[in-house]
Amino acid sequence: MSLPLILSSNTHGEIHLFVGTGSNVSVHEDHRVCSLTIKRLRRVLTTGAIPIVINPSHPTHINAILNEFKSKANFSIQIIDRQVRLNDLTTLGRNITSGVVDRLFINLGSDQLSLVQPIYLQCVKLRIPINTYQQPEYSTFTLLPTYTDPKGSGLQISVTTNGKGYILDERIKRDIVNNLPANISEVISNMAFLRDQLIQQHNSVLLREKYIETPLSLPKLGYGLDNDPWDSHKFNQLIKEFDMTKNDQRHRRCRWLSQIMEYYPLSKLDKITLDDLEALTDKDSASEIPIELVSERKKEGRISLVGSGPGSVSMLTLGALHEIKTADLILSDKLVPQEVLALVPNHTKLIIAKKFPGNAEKAQAEFLNLGLEALKQGLHVIRLKQGDPYIFGRGGEEYLWFKERGFTPIVLPGISSSLASTVAAQIPATQRGIADQVLICTGTGRKGTIPEVPEYVPSRTTVFLMALHRAEILQKSLLEKKWDPEVPLAIVERASCPDQRVTRTKLKYLQQTVEEIGSRPPGLIVIGHAVNQLTDDANNFTETFTHIIDEGFNDVEIDATNVNFTI
Ligand code: SAH
Repeated sequence: MSLPLILSSNTHGEIHLFVGTGSNVSVHEDHRVCSLTIKRLRRVLTTGAIPIVINPSHPTHINAILNEFKSKANFSIQIIDRQVRLNDLTTLGRNITSGVVDRLFINLGSDQLSLVQPIYLQCVKLRIPINTYQQPEYSTFTLLPTYTDPKGSGLQISVTTNGKGYILDERIKRDIVNNLPANISEVISNMAFLRDQLIQQHNSVLLREKYIETPLSLPKLGYGLDNDPWDSHKFNQLIKEFDMTKNDQRHRRCRWLSQIMEYYPLSKLDKITLDDLEALTDKDSASEIPIELVSERKKEGRISLVGSGPGSVSMLTLGALHEIKTADLILSDKLVPQEVLALVPNHTKLIIAKKFPGNAEKAQAEFLNLGLEALKQGLHVIRLKQGDPYIFGRGGEEYLWFKERGFTPIVLPGISSSLASTVAAQIPATQRGIADQVLICTGTGRKGTIPEVPEYVPSRTTVFLMALHRAEILQKSLLEKKWDPEVPLAIVERASCPDQRVTRTKLKYLQQTVEEIGSRPPGLIVIGHAVNQLTDDANNFTETFTHIIDEGFNDVEIDATNVNFTI
């Protein structure tokens, strides 16, 4: 089977003729009709070629195209509103090609398909590359789905299965792109920078011979380097330190650079500096690269905001476990459960927030400053928060605090107590015909104020966090807002911990129940008809029998202490 030759064409300054603009339907009827033409025009323009559109398939396409490009300062499109003629192929082109156009894209409406064959034959005769939309028999080239690095590193990735995969090409391309290291643009830019530095500093004969006459113009060109004949094996030849010729010495750093490109982990290449190459050339010149150079490099501080779940280790995410196992410093909320903190390796520094009523704001600032100092020293810091960092956890504020100081956190969600408590208490937060919405709110507003209580919605499950210590006020406010006093209610304390306690009652007995059972923090309140859907014991309460208590949590047994992550 013969396969086409894949090229990267320098089309700067060329004239590309677009014959037809898609199907002969008005843009008003189908706004997609000339979108392919617009897409291709955009692509051609970014290569520096000059497109001319001739023979628009419908008069409305002209405006659609002009509108698309009118705001782009450097992009001007010439449109010739008449039927194409064969001699357009030899008159609309550049002087340097004696008027022959450089490339042709045909996309004619169904009423004009008879024009395709004569144009194709003329193109073949004049060796003008031609592409006819959806007609490979009238095409000498096709455009491939191409990823172009938006950060401008110059990376482009095109994929083809040569018609075998149909739309799979695009999918394969996306997969390849998704699997590149996130810093691929920086990797490429850094390698290009180092190469240019070497060329300039040493006027390297090697690179000059490998590439083209004037090395200084390389960075400007940006493409056009033939790298298929690159014989990289030569770079691995062992060169004995005392036998080195002048030429060898001169080439040594280039050789190191190419070896680094070949062997180092791709994602580390963005951090290599000229000093590193210097350090390498100072060492003995065995061809193996001392890999510790990369790991010895000054680490950059990294911070993650991690949710630790409601309590049980079984509700910790793998991401959270990874972070706990690999951190240098852990700044933990005081609510983070003991079982989770027990996973912190002995060598890891653990600091627990000393936030108590009265000193919360000051303690918070001191605490975060400890993290910042560690980050500046290049450490991996994690800010461990109970439940989910963004559910009443001040996670958003801390995110901004670190971001403003130059360290943008990675945020890993955690299972929030607000949604795990219902499960742990056998409450289906939504249940068909019973509850179709869930509301998570707080019983404590900023600086201890009482927040506005929500309306009563019979089909809603409402979860109140930080509310148990003010059960009396909460009950009063809800009843004043016309909540049904008979609506089932559960107090869920230490959800998912071995000493979990679930107390079921009704809204009208909330205050009385809290007084009777006392508190086992942390705890929350769930109100709604979902509360007694899976248990039937919550219906027969009286003034003297106001509640029923369930103790303990049925957990799976997990030994996460032995899980190891390599850093
Ligand atoms: N970010 C946390 C909530 C922090 S606010 C989360 O997503 O879970 C602290 C409140 O969460 C407590 O006052 C209590 O109402 C609730 N809470 C936290 N852990 C709990 C648990 N294990 N069981 C019941 N309520 C809990």
